[in-house]
Amino acid sequence: MSPQIAGPADLHMHSECSDGTEAPAEVVRQAGIAGLRTIALTDHDTVAGWDDAARASHESGIALLPGAEVSSKHRGSSVHVLAYLFDPDHRGLSHLMARVRDDRVGRAERIARNLARDLPVTWEDVLEQRSGDATIGRPHIADALVARGIVKSRAEAFAGPLHPASPYYVSHAAPTPLEAVIEIARAGGVSIIAHPAGRGTMPEHAIRELLDAGLAGFELGHRENTATGTARLQRLVEERDLIVTGSSDYHGAGKPNRLGENTTDPAMVARIVGAATGSAPVF
Ligand code: AMP
Ligand code: FE
Ligand code: FE
Ligand code: ZN
Repeated sequence: MSPQIAGPADLHMHSECSDGTEAPAEVVRQAGIAGLRTIALTDHDTVAGWDDAARASHESGIALLPGAEVSSKHRGSSVHVLAYLFDPDHRGLSHLMARVRDDRVGRAERIARNLARDLPVTWEDVLEQRSGDATIGRPHIADALVARGIVKSRAEAFAGPLHPASPYYVSHAAPTPLEAVIEIARAGGVSIIAHPAGRGTMPEHAIRELLDAGLAGFELGHRENTATGTARLQRLVEERDLIVTGSSDYHGAGKPNRLGENTTDPAMVARIVGAATGSAPVF
């Protein structure tokens, strides 16, 4: 008998293995302080934090679903696919994430060099903000701009020089959401679209195609979702009996999102655990 999944559960958080500001074990510790009983570590495009988070979870009695947030793109707009309990050694999925991570490095360097034409910031400044070989992203560039006193916060950097409409912006290569969902399924994982009703939602026919390929559900509880977008997806949830999650998308000091600000019904967590075959939750 496996132990019961208990609430409150928050299934979306980041550590410094991607763009969070705390080590995985510290994220787990903060989750305990916030009163969470079940969590998932979902760093962008990497499993690098799994072992550290698993040790900390086991010691603190918090159930952990190892996961990742896979970067993908549908017709140029970013779609984040949360993946839970997949096999971290699955070749297809690990190669897919490694390609994104690698491309993100050259892309971040190009953005930094574009910024350096007009602003007193360098690529070396950006690398100083990255912990080890963390999945690099605009948040690290934002942190370099903050360190240089050019902006006051990540939010200000994203609204200004790092905005996709800014002349400094460069995008990175990413699989389609369909490719991501297919590889996650092959790796025995469960896929959920992150913040699916925020800016740039996918058209319904494309979402139905993902569902046919194995997409399990939607993160309907997320501060970036709009009420109308959420209502539209809720109809699909009822039609297809999909999994619904709610989560914080915690990034430590990198975002205002607080642990447990949205939570997932333990019955939904149990459905995720029951559907996954790639790896087991850590208790
Ligand atoms: P990238 O994937 O490198 O294009 O950067 C996107 C990441 O930046 C996302 O994972 C978000 O967590 C983060 N992000 C987006 N907007 C903001 C913001 N306004 N403040 C802080 N972080 C943000
Ligand atoms: Fe992020
Ligand atoms: Fe995201
Ligand atoms: Zn996230």
